[in-house]
Amino acid sequence: MIPYNKPYLTGNEINYIKQVIESGKISGNGPFTKLCQRFFEDKYNFGKCLLTSSGTDALEMAAILLNIKDGDEIIMPSYTFVSTANAFVLRGAKIIFVDSRHDHPGIDEEAIEPLITHRTKAIVVVHYAGIACNMERILEIASNFNISIVEDAAHSIDSYYKTKPLGGMGHLAAFSFHETKNIISGEGGMLVINDKRYEERAEIIWEKGTNRASFWRGEVDKYGWMDVGSSFLPSEITAAFLLAQLEKIDSIQRKRKDIWIKYFNSLLPLQNKGLIKLPVVPSWAKGNGHLFYIVCKTYHERSQLIKYLKDNQIYAVFHYFSLHASPFYAAKHDGRKLKRSEIYSECLVRLPLYFELENFQITYISDCIIRFYENYSTKQVN
Ligand SMILES: *Cc1c(COP(=O)(O)O)cnc(C)c1O
Repeated sequence: MIPYNKPYLTGNEINYIKQVIESGKISGNGPFTKLCQRFFEDKYNFGKCLLTSSGTDALEMAAILLNIKDGDEIIMPSYTFVSTANAFVLRGAKIIFVDSRHDHPGIDEEAIEPLITHRTKAIVVVHYAGIACNMERILEIASNFNISIVEDAAHSIDSYYKTKPLGGMGHLAAFSFHETKNIISGEGGMLVINDKRYEERAEIIWEKGTNRASFWRGEVDKYGWMDVGSSFLPSEITAAFLLAQLEKIDSIQRKRKDIWIKYFNSLLPLQNKGLIKLPVVPSWAKGNGHLFYIVCKTYHERSQLIKYLKDNQIYAVFHYFSLHASPFYAAKHDGRKLKRSEIYSECLVRLPLYFELENFQITYISDCIIRFYENYSTKQVN
């Protein structure tokens, strides 16, 4: 069976983990954590970076930092992972879900402004598949209404809006290093603080609500309880794993983008015949090969395709269920139809994409899809 994901190991993870164990500094905020954080601050010119135990944690930190309270409203796409919303729901916020773009699962930027009220505290954008949202337009709206922007950049490492790296444009941004992402540490994540006003408090929230980080730097002579917080920082073992991955980021990204282009080219004839839709990359976006998807015409067609691929030893998967229609949120949603989000929930298929996927496998998978449509479309006509 060709899996849809296979975690890639650079080989150096084990050496760095060994170094951590031998050093005796195993808890968080040690040398490996600092090297990882500095990697992002230097390479992408991000504001302050703090490693977290997951992307979910980074989003939860963002919600605490923004002082989200009961009754605050947060605008975000419905087509996203539950953590994007949960982080704010945990603080008592009401989520105002927005539909996807007509040509992309990302947030429809023109649908945002009419939803803004005096309660709106933040807009959370998700750069789905590592393809940038229309950031200039969204930043303009946010600044007109004095609202914060959080980038859920879980898919978006080393991806760009024009020349600007994703994760560097919002007031805050969350990355994930879960084993299904491009750069991994098993579980893992990072909060980026681009707005300096949040820097000091972010470090306190990260260290259980204490000023222990400034204590270690010798800035204060004792540390105490300063604010709410939690244990958001990962151990040095996780950071060591991550550093080994980051050192290979250029070759990892090159390979993934190469796979993405091969899929695109070999499936283009199906799009030209009007049978499927391939990902649309807007002129402002430079992607990172995070995931490759196709959009079928109906839910039935997608189920048949996934089954056909499985019968041919290929594991392809659907992706998010629209959150506005989820068992947890449907009754809390304000009733607006979000049609495009539901279409992506019902019709989008992710194809296998991982570092070790070989050219002959990409050809095999593409040929299988082409063969499926030779039969499926004739069946539909007859
Ligand atoms: C993976 C993901 C997350 C959560 O990241 P974890 O590290 O798994 O907690 C959040 N948002 C999106 C869009 C994701 O894909």
